[in-house]
Amino acid sequence: MSDCLFCRIVAGDVPATVVRESPRTLAFRDIAPQAPTHVLVVPKEHYDDLAALTAADLDLAAELVRDAHRVAVAEGIASSGYRVVVNTGPDAGQTVPHVHLHVLGGRALGRLG
Ligand code: 5GP
Ligand code: ZN
Repeated sequence: MSDCLFCRIVAGDVPATVVRESPRTLAFRDIAPQAPTHVLVVPKEHYDDLAALTAADLDLAAELVRDAHRVAVAEGIASSGYRVVVNTGPDAGQTVPHVHLHVLGGRALGRLG
């Protein structure tokens, strides 16, 4: 999807600070970090949201979760703790319609909600 921001990052048309890449996934730093570590993990293939991804490819969903943990290890926050967030749809405030996992950590994050 040429008009999708994260597809353009995957294609290299929009610059991003990439921290991890696998054949089907890419992880890069969020442009407006909410914590000392704030990395987004995305599939290279476009899916609008978690509903579309899980309906189409559960293996790819598992790869994204695996990579979220690997990012946390590489960032040195796996033992201090981290949060993985997937905003899906309007009530969650999803702003980029290309499914992505937020990996957040490096400080006490407080309770959800
Ligand atoms: P959402 O609100 O959809 O769950 O998360 C979208 C995230 O994408 C936000 O945290 C936002 O800061 C991040 N973001 C928006 N535009 C860009 C961009 O151009 N580059 C990067 N690296 N992150 C972006
Ligand atoms: Zn996309």
